Amino acid sequence: MLSFEDARQLVIAKSESHAGVRPTLDLPISDSLGHILAQAICSDREYPPFNRSTRDGYAVRAREAMPGSSLRCVGEIKAGDTVSQSLEPGTCIQIMTGAAVPPEADAVVMIEFTHRTSDTVTFDRPTQPGQNVVPRGSEAHTGDLILQPGLRLGFAELAVAAQVGATTLLCHKKPRVAILSTGDEVVPITETPGPFHIRNSNTISLTAQIQLAGGVPVPLVNALDRVDDLSAKIEQGLRDDILVLSGGVSMGKYDLVESVLKGMGAEFFFDAVAIRPGKPTVFGRCRNTLVFGLPGNPVSTMVTFHLFVLPAIDILSATAPRSLPLLEATLAEPVQEKPGLAHFLPAHIAWNASASKVTALRWQGSGDISTLTRANCFLVVPADRSNISSGEKVSVLPRFDVL
Ligand code: AMP
Ligand code: MG
Repeated sequence: MLSFEDARQLVIAKSESHAGVRPTLDLPISDSLGHILAQAICSDREYPPFNRSTRDGYAVRAREAMPGSSLRCVGEIKAGDTVSQSLEPGTCIQIMTGAAVPPEADAVVMIEFTHRTSDTVTFDRPTQPGQNVVPRGSEAHTGDLILQPGLRLGFAELAVAAQVGATTLLCHKKPRVAILSTGDEVVPITETPGPFHIRNSNTISLTAQIQLAGGVPVPLVNALDRVDDLSAKIEQGLRDDILVLSGGVSMGKYDLVESVLKGMGAEFFFDAVAIRPGKPTVFGRCRNTLVFGLPGNPVSTMVTFHLFVLPAIDILSATAPRSLPLLEATLAEPVQEKPGLAHFLPAHIAWNASASKVTALRWQGSGDISTLTRANCFLVVPADRSNISSGEKVSVLPRFDVL
C-alpha cells in the first residue's frame, strides 16, 4: 500500500501530465483574488517615481545636519506636491512622508531628532547620506517584470498590479470540480432526515474546501448505492475537470464507486493509501476527468481532500502544487495508535515561536465532525510508531482554512 507521501507524489505526477494548456479569461482586478495569473505584469515607470521621503522631518544635505548644527527652514513639501523650490546651502525644507525629496537634498532627518525655533532647525544626531530616502527606481525600473505568469493572486500581488496601472488581468480559469456524494442513507440538508438517515454534510464541506483551494465547486445530486443511479450521476460529473466522490469506496457490498467507474472506462492510479482516516481513497482518470473517490466519513473526506485533491486543483489551476505544510511541534500528552497506517488525529496546536505544543483531541473517530471544529491541525502519527511520549517532537498538518 502506498504511503500518503508517495500517493500524493503520484497525484502530482498524473495531474501534471494530464493538465495540458489551461484556458484563460480577462478579469477585472477586483474579481481576480485567488486566480492564477496568466500574463506577465511589468512596471509602467520607475518605482518609486521620485526620491521619496519615508519620514516626516526635514530634507537636508546630510553633511550640514550634524549634532548641534542649525539650518534655516525655507518651506515645506507635502505628499503630492510638485517640487519647485531648490535647496540652497545652509537651508532645509520641512517634508512629509511620501513627498518628493528636492534634488539637492540627500537625506531626511526625522522631526523627533530636531528642535525648531521660528525658522531655525537644530539637529540632535549625525545624519547619514541616503537616510530616510528611497531613491527613484530602486524598487523597480520601467519595463521590469514584477509578476510572473503562474503566480497566485493574493493581496500583495493585486496591490502591485494596481500600482502599475493594471485594471484587468489575464488569469487562468479556475478548474471545475464536480462533487458527488453517494449513499442511500444520505439526504439533502433541506429535508428532515428519517431516524436512520444522515444529512449530506460532505457536499457542503467539499464545496468549502474546493472554494478555498481555488476551484469552482459543482455540486451534484447525491447518488444512491445503485449501479444505474451512480453511473448516471458520474456521467454528469465527467463534464468537469475533476470529479470528487464521497463514500462508496470501502469493502461493503454496496460500495460500488470503483466498479462503476471501471465499467465506464476509468483507469486507476491507486485505490488504497496507508493512512487512517482515509485508507480506501481512490484516484484515477475517466475520459478527460481526474477522479477521486474519497471515503464518506466526514473527517476522512476532509483529510483526504487536503492530502490528495488540493494538489490536483493547484495543477489544473496552472500553478505549482502547494507543498504540504508539515510543521514540527512538541507533543503535550502521549498518544497510542496501532502501527501500520499513518494516523491523522484532530489536534490543537498552541503556537509558540520556540516550541509549539500540540495535543490530540479525544474523538469518536472519522465521523466526529464536532471534534474537528475544536481542532486547528492534525497530529500526524507515522505508520511505524505506536506510542509517542509527551515531550517528543511530532509532525503537525495545520488545517488549511485556519492558518
Ligand atoms: P461510506 O464511505 O460510503 O462507507 O460512508 C461511511 C459513512 O460516512 C456513512 O456511514 C455515513 O455515516 C457517512 N457519510 C457518507 N456520506 C456522507 C455525506 N455525504 N455526508 C455526511 N456523512 C456521510
Ligand atoms: Mg456509503
